[in-house]
Amino acid sequence: MKIRPVVMKFGGSSVATAQRIKNVAKIIVNQKKKYKHIVVVVSAPGDTTDELIEKAYQITSNPDKRELDMLLSTGEQISIALVAMALHSLGYDAISLTGPQAGIFADSYHTKARIIDIDTRKILYYLHQNKIVIVAGFQGINPNEDITTLGRGGSDLTAVALAAKLHAPVCEIYTDVEGVYTTDPRVVPEARKIDYLTYDEMLEMAGSGAQVMMSRAVEVAKKYNVKLEIKSSLVDTPGTIVYK
Ligand code: ASP
Ligand code: MG
Repeated sequence: MKIRPVVMKFGGSSVATAQRIKNVAKIIVNQKKKYKHIVVVVSAPGDTTDELIEKAYQITSNPDKRELDMLLSTGEQISIALVAMALHSLGYDAISLTGPQAGIFADSYHTKARIIDIDTRKILYYLHQNKIVIVAGFQGINPNEDITTLGRGGSDLTAVALAAKLHAPVCEIYTDVEGVYTTDPRVVPEARKIDYLTYDEMLEMAGSGAQVMMSRAVEVAKKYNVKLEIKSSLVDTPGTIVYK
């Protein structure tokens, strides 16, 4: 049987508190009932990444980039373990994997590495066992076996790259807004949600300041034809579909 999992990505705000992590687990379980196989990608909780950067700069004004990546990658590791535990407590089988464990190979440009390839064997092995696989976003392993991070917002890139490699029918990007809006709903109350966008329209919108996704991730989605749905982790309504 060919496994084509749905990829679900949750941003930092969606896993900022224990309550939100429990909520994320419920959303995952709902999708698990609909689609047989699920891969989840998560970012670091809330402002963790910013706080870790701040801490590094309290130590030195010129932190070594390899060590910065070692530090920053811990944020996502917190999220994957907690989401897996939340799924266990709902009675579901789930396993967390760091980027390196998930087979995400990246280059050596510390703090803004690119994904070179993904060896999906371990992910597929666990999916076969009917486990929900939770992957740490924003990180990979370089040829030297050092952890590298993929640039700010890089969990989007992890999710899209996994969706491409695993031939996912959709890559769902869960965030704290209900989709892509004509203008920022947090600033302009009469902003309107857009149902469908092309990749190019989505890239243009990012340029005009309505950044809901890392631009490089949208470019990769375009290149590999990964269907995106940007939706809320707080309310259950259809989001914005990005395709073609
Ligand atoms: N935690 C990382 C960041 O804040 C990656 C991400 O959020 O996608 O940039
Ligand atoms: Mg983050």
